[in-house]
Amino acid sequence: MKEILNYINGHFQPAASGNTIDNIKPSTGEIYGTIPESGVEDIAQAVNSAEKAFPLWKSTPKEERSAILFRLADLIKENLEELAMAEAIDNGKPVSLAKAVDIPRAEANIRFYANAITQFSSEAHHMEIGAINYTLRKPIGIVGCISPWNLPLYLFTWKIAPALAAGNCVIAKPSEVTPMTAYLLSKLAKEAGLPDGVLNVVHGTGPSAGDAIISHPKIKAISFTGGTKTGQYIAAKAAPEFKKLSLELGGKNPNIIFADCDFDTMLDTTVRSSFANQGQICLCGSRIFVEESIYEKFRDAFVEKVSKMRVGNPELPETKMGAVVSEQHMNKVLEFVELAKEEGGKVLTGGVQVKLEGALQRGFYIQPAIIEGLSFDCRTNQEEIFGPVVTIMPFKTEEEVLKYANSTKYGLSATLWTENLSRAHRMAEHIESGIVWINCWLLRDLRTPFGGVKDSGVGREGGFEALRFFTEPQNVCVKY
Ligand code: NDP
Repeated sequence: MKEILNYINGHFQPAASGNTIDNIKPSTGEIYGTIPESGVEDIAQAVNSAEKAFPLWKSTPKEERSAILFRLADLIKENLEELAMAEAIDNGKPVSLAKAVDIPRAEANIRFYANAITQFSSEAHHMEIGAINYTLRKPIGIVGCISPWNLPLYLFTWKIAPALAAGNCVIAKPSEVTPMTAYLLSKLAKEAGLPDGVLNVVHGTGPSAGDAIISHPKIKAISFTGGTKTGQYIAAKAAPEFKKLSLELGGKNPNIIFADCDFDTMLDTTVRSSFANQGQICLCGSRIFVEESIYEKFRDAFVEKVSKMRVGNPELPETKMGAVVSEQHMNKVLEFVELAKEEGGKVLTGGVQVKLEGALQRGFYIQPAIIEGLSFDCRTNQEEIFGPVVTIMPFKTEEEVLKYANSTKYGLSATLWTENLSRAHRMAEHIESGIVWINCWLLRDLRTPFGGVKDSGVGREGGFEALRFFTEPQNVCVKY
């Protein structure tokens, strides 16, 4: 049994209540450890320690903060194997994916902000009457970072790196469903020399530990990634306290395929953009719109490839599709497949629970599903499923597919496949989403603004946007 502990004021400790929550391994359904069930008292302790640490941390030269973050990035790299396996066990994702994507990206996040803070500058505004304004960018103080289970260390570090680099002290809560790598990271943070109290990692459920973070009056900014409903709740609760908010929420992303695309590249990428991480990436393209003239060709080739995909033990290096994150989530995804059938959809492949052998027979495995025959505005095509389920639909014209693409309440990302560049740019401009990928997917430059429109979120992460979020501008006006 692996016991996870809170990291508060540089100490590893259980929840103040002494209560724990079971940590379940998705590949076998077994309990393999415990997590502190933290609440108001633990968050209060974390805030006290952050408050004490803040004066020194904010006045630590950025070069020194940067050096500590670089050491942390190096330690993530040195511990790649252990972190990747921990992520696979905790989340159910294939270890190959954790090793190639999640952990390297966590390292890159820390390294990126270790660099970015040394390049971050503020504005000056000269006035002809003989005055100059300059803007100070001050750290906010104590900030809260709340992250989801789908990309555990990847998204956890994406938040804490800019917050720490900018000179804030952080209270961070990973999802209670996947707490392991955040716990391992707290050990590495200590080893890297991050002063006590600067980063506090508090484990527990959203309604208890998460709520205590958003309710604490001394936590002045919240960076949250998770579901739209939780985001709405946080926004409503934080608004009367005038907390700064960055909300990265759900998606229902369109993948639009025109007949003139590079078919083979599109097909390979579409398999990935549909089912990577068992379809549990907020950027996965779950609604696939295909120009009518190649619809059948695409459908047959796509079904052939996807029906050959095999789910397997996430801990084995050859596994490409692992388990979904929890039994509850598995059931939710399977219910959506039933709903799709009720709405007139035809399941072309997958959409059923897979029972593996031996210890894995209680794991949460779903055969990836492709569904056709649904209208663009049915529930299956409007609500976020967040699992290995995609729908395919034909379209005739640009206008028609734009209407379909923009029909949901979400607006996170979109993918477009066409060799006609004029069309690509024209379409990109009219798609309601924070990110558009043309002839690629999940190609990320960490300097770019990242986030969604409509119900997919408020604010942007990435590049200097996150450093702006985690600082408060102050204008100083000098007359001469
Ligand atoms: P949730 O909204 O359920 O949870 C996200 C985090 O918020 C978890 O740490 C959770 O804790 C915590 N939380 C839950 N309730 C509260 C509360 N009342 N107060 C404070 N914190 C709370 O999302 P999931 O973890 O299920 O993640 C999946 C969702 O995340 C999907 O909708 C997906 O689209 C979205 N997402 C968005 C991304 C983006 O960049 N826009 C990227 C990745 C995912 P706990 O789990 O411990 O209960």
